Amino acid sequence: MDFALSAKAEDVCARAWDFMREHVFPAEPVYDAWRAERGHDNHEHPPVLEELKAEARTRGLWNLFHHEVGGLSNLEYASVAEITGWSPTIAPEAMNVGAPDTGNMETLMLFGTEEHKQRWLQPLLEGEIRSGFAMTEPDVASSDARNIQTSIVRDGDEYVINGRKWWTSGAADERCQIFIVMGKTDPEGAPHRQQSMVLVPRDTPGWRSSGTSRCSGTRTSTATRSCGSPTCGSRCRTSSPARATAS
Ligand SMILES: Cc1cc2nc3c(=O)[nH]c(=O)nc-3n(C[C@H](O)[C@H](O)[C@H](O)COP(=O)(O)OP(=O)(O)OC[C@H]3O[C@@H](n4cnc5c(N)ncnc54)[C@H](O)[C@@H]3O)c2cc1C
Repeated sequence: MDFALSAKAEDVCARAWDFMREHVFPAEPVYDAWRAERGHDNHEHPPVLEELKAEARTRGLWNLFHHEVGGLSNLEYASVAEITGWSPTIAPEAMNVGAPDTGNMETLMLFGTEEHKQRWLQPLLEGEIRSGFAMTEPDVASSDARNIQTSIVRDGDEYVINGRKWWTSGAADERCQIFIVMGKTDPEGAPHRQQSMVLVPRDTPGWRSSGTSRCSGTRTSTATRSCGSPTCGSRCRTSSPARATAS
């Protein structure tokens, strides 16, 4: 297989490296100092990230993760992801290619209704809000979705959701406005067909965040930085049933 970069990928990678050298790497100590000053339990948004986002947009380095939006093939985008990996805590968010938003945006593109796209996908593509993906649960081996215990029961125009989630990256950040939550809608079905995912807005009645845990070491440790999310390890749970509107 030929892994040589296309002319388009060569160009975007050169511009991405310029952006990293001129803006992202110099912003790292600013970001770290801002975080260190506020401590682990602060989940506000360092202003330097907004400056980086504006600069990335100006340079056409925005939303490159998706071929329809960013114009790159998967192979071409892989070279860009390799570059943003040199500053995993801030470069992906600066270029709006950070997890879990990318996967969540793709899910919304594929399965969202027009209303979902207007309300959640568009602001995510603009970098105005962030999103969470809530699958993992504290009491079960969550790498196997068949074990998921959260229940999702339809009740008229609403879904009633009961369950506890943890490791929902970014949940403690107030900008995280929408969660894709995995649960079981058909517990009697074939084991691999019991699960569904629903959109749960942050302000859904019954939704409750019970705090955050450290990923490993302190926020500025290499291990934490490598996870790409300053607030990873957030636990979000619905202890009383959460009600999300069906659509
Ligand atoms: C930095 C970070 C960010 C994360 N962000 C998110 C997030 O945003 N949203 C989210 O939902 N989760 C998130 N997670 C959680 C992550 O997805 C889970 O930890 C992962 O899916 C494994 O699930 P688990 O922890 O329940 O481990 P388990 O499923 O208990 O697995 C533990 C070990 O047992 C093995 N194992 C499990 N079942 C079997 C089996 N049947 N046979 C053989 N081996 C088995 C696994 O391979 C693994 O080695 C994050 C985790 C990290 C570290």
